[in-house]
Amino acid sequence: MSSKKVIESVYEQVLKRNPGENEFHQAVKEVLESLTPVLDENPQYIDSRILERIVEPERVIMFRVPWIDDAGKVQVNRGFRVQFSSAIGPYKGGIRFHPSVYLGIIKFLGFEQIFKNSLTGLMMGGAKGGSDFDPKGKSNNEVMRFCQSFMTELCKHIGADTDVPAGDIGVGGREVGYMFGQYKRIRNEFVGVLTGKGLQWGGSLVRTEATGYGLVYIVDELLKEKGESFEGKTVTVSGSGNVAIYATEKVQQLGGKVVAMSDSNGYIFDPQGIKLDTVKQIKEIERKRIKEYCSIHKSAKYTEGCNGIWTVKCDIALPCATQNELDGEGAKALAKNGCKVVAEGANMPTTPEGADILMENKVAFLPGKAANAGGVAVSGLEMAQNSQRYAWTFERADAELKNIMVNIYKNISAAAEQYGQKGNYIVGANIAGFVKVADSMMAHGVV
Ligand code: NDP
Repeated sequence: MSSKKVIESVYEQVLKRNPGENEFHQAVKEVLESLTPVLDENPQYIDSRILERIVEPERVIMFRVPWIDDAGKVQVNRGFRVQFSSAIGPYKGGIRFHPSVYLGIIKFLGFEQIFKNSLTGLMMGGAKGGSDFDPKGKSNNEVMRFCQSFMTELCKHIGADTDVPAGDIGVGGREVGYMFGQYKRIRNEFVGVLTGKGLQWGGSLVRTEATGYGLVYIVDELLKEKGESFEGKTVTVSGSGNVAIYATEKVQQLGGKVVAMSDSNGYIFDPQGIKLDTVKQIKEIERKRIKEYCSIHKSAKYTEGCNGIWTVKCDIALPCATQNELDGEGAKALAKNGCKVVAEGANMPTTPEGADILMENKVAFLPGKAANAGGVAVSGLEMAQNSQRYAWTFERADAELKNIMVNIYKNISAAAEQYGQKGNYIVGANIAGFVKVADSMMAHGVV
């Protein structure tokens, strides 16, 4: 069978075996479509049915999470951990708490994580977890009781050398703390079983900033290749969570001007440049809506609805909120307004149509699995520090992060060029991430 036929048949199987899991289908399709030239050159992958194996998680854990709210009522959520691939290291990937979470989202994220982790050059397999729990509007005590119940089950399946979760949407330092506390209590061991920990109890400097900073480092490398820099560039950043905030911080440090940010209700446009301290105060400390920004800074305007953010004129756009937030319409608006670079801080924020439109219009497009790998990279460095029982300085962790992002850029550019698709970073990232995992699977035999 030709490589193309193999890919089609694997994809058909995925659709049949995973009904209704649209985000997972989308992520698998994008990766498989890139792999034709690799399979042509490596028929051993076809013979060993690497594709059939890689799209099937090694293990899926789904569990009940009962907890008691402040009114004394019993609540029930659903918890997930998808341990997708341990070919190149222990499972590694974040935990997401958001009402939209279901198995298909966790599988899409876990699948992406395999290739992203491979791109970092560190020894980490791919996994993802989460729950349909919504931390918004919950008291601290409710969040704590939920996290404890979630970890009471999860702790049976993870461990410092088995599976090391981290944060994602809705899971930040507070939630990681409550989960770590419960793990430690039940298992009676103080180990690096979660990353994104507090600095006093095993966390790494730069982990909080890592995804956002890493995103900007990789874009900076791309700009450098074109003889340009962030200096004087206008930038749009969607979202106002962890990734968005630290991407904005680094853009500003490098001389760029971020003029728009958003949350799940709407976006703010501040032509004078976003005042990041205000955003941090509103979103990180007060946990309020981005709209509040306009009552403090009169230069800014708030617009209800998130999609309009792509109509803001910019040189560089960094989607940092959530999946499928940048569609064909958004991509057309960006290209029309002269945007030259789109780099994904979030996971799969651009729809396939959106990505096609951007590339047709010669907008350089860096996909999430490469561009947002800085977060998991520093998580990997946190694991290394935990094993050594030693904490690095901010400067050392930041320099390692930068080095990893520069290498990712070089590797994905080289892979794209090697397979005749220069400048197609989607293909480059998928191929560069895949080959290492596939070769490791070959070495391990049929397992
Ligand atoms: P946060 O929870 O800190 O922030 C998420 C942001 O996105 C918030 O501003 C939120 O708005 C907004 N948002 C969430 N859902 C939607 C939606 N349906 N529509 C529009 N906006 C939405 O998450 P992170 O910053 O950690 O994660 C953002 C993205 O980056 C995710 O795709 C995540 O998977 C990815 N990522 C994160 C990494 C990390 O290290 N944190 C690493 C790699 C990828 P609101 O405040 O209204 O909820």
